[in-house]
Amino acid sequence: MSPTLLNAATVGKRGEVIVDGITCDFSGTRVLHETDLAVQAGEFFTLLGPSGSGKTTLLRIIAGLIDFTSGSVAIDGSDVTHLPTQQRDIGFVFQNYALFPHLTVAQNIAFGLKIRKVRGTALAKRVDEMLELTELGALRDRHPSQLSGGQQQRVALGRALAQRPRVLLLDEPLGALDRRLRQDLGSEIRRVQQESETTAIYVTHDQEEAYILSDRMGVMEAGYIRQVGAPRDVYSAPNSDFVANFLGETNSFVAEVVGQSRSGTQVRTGEFVVTATEGPTLGIGSACTLSARPEQIRLSPSVETAPVGYEAVARVTITDARFFGQTIRVRLADERGSYLVDLDSAEAIPEVGTPAVMSVRARSAVLLPIP
Ligand code: ADP
Ligand code: MG
Repeated sequence: MSPTLLNAATVGKRGEVIVDGITCDFSGTRVLHETDLAVQAGEFFTLLGPSGSGKTTLLRIIAGLIDFTSGSVAIDGSDVTHLPTQQRDIGFVFQNYALFPHLTVAQNIAFGLKIRKVRGTALAKRVDEMLELTELGALRDRHPSQLSGGQQQRVALGRALAQRPRVLLLDEPLGALDRRLRQDLGSEIRRVQQESETTAIYVTHDQEEAYILSDRMGVMEAGYIRQVGAPRDVYSAPNSDFVANFLGETNSFVAEVVGQSRSGTQVRTGEFVVTATEGPTLGIGSACTLSARPEQIRLSPSVETAPVGYEAVARVTITDARFFGQTIRVRLADERGSYLVDLDSAEAIPEVGTPAVMSVRARSAVLLPIP
């Protein structure tokens, strides 16, 4: 057998989506700028970004639900740009469940199949498979009004997958649910996507959802996809201030490049020199930002007492310190800015007004260009 036939990506999995140079204007305003996106067959890909960044617009273009200005969409190598939605072989799950209120759970799941003229035992078998996949068997004869929000969303998922779509598109499907339920149903969506081997493109503004669900994600801002990668890689090596801040708390230090070596880029911030390992190559003398997550930073009373494996980065004063459950959240400031550090909640809560030295774990600080 040839090696390519053994490759899981080419056997069985369908639903590769290629978005090429999509530009979209609404009444003269550009909401997507020459956007490219490549989602692999079987992948769970999340579009993550703040409200208004263009996530829904891009998803609806992939679905064939709206007109756009230029560019193309291909699924599994064939151009679908001019193909109507019904012929694209995709499933859709929206935030508002959009179930038929007068139909039972089983009838809702069967609906699309019936339209496609699936009948008799084939229909019954497929509905049963979907009820099992979404663990709704016991609720099959209920109506939507007799279900919780999470259960309704599982019905919507089963209905979307019943026709074995090549691609499942989900637009903030957990948005209307409370936090605990969001996590449970999120894991459920991921399990169902894996078991059904369906490509999923998922839209959310919630970074935790994106982390839990995605193989890869694309971070959107103002009609651009700013960065694409595995959640952990994007979190630890953001390519801009925007991405660093959108993905969680971060500390930004004003800095200047003073050297390059095999171990990374040396930057000066105030009186300290720190090595950054991720980020663009910038010439010596370039102004830049050094970015470090709160959990990458430790505090000590002096430079000499900084923990082993950490590099001093700023002399600060503690401005606030609060118990935060798993951590103690400490805010600090110097004349250039304010910062955030999370301490282990077993540690003593530091006193406001105390001077301290912030040190960053070696090889964890990221260099960012000045926007
Ligand atoms: P997101 O899903 O990331 O919140 P959207 O894709 O819904 O963002 O919207 C992107 C931008 O396009 C926003 O500025 C929004 O106001 C605008 N927009 C979306 N739909 C329309 C429309 N039908 N007509 C005009 N402007 C729209
Ligand atoms: Mg949206």
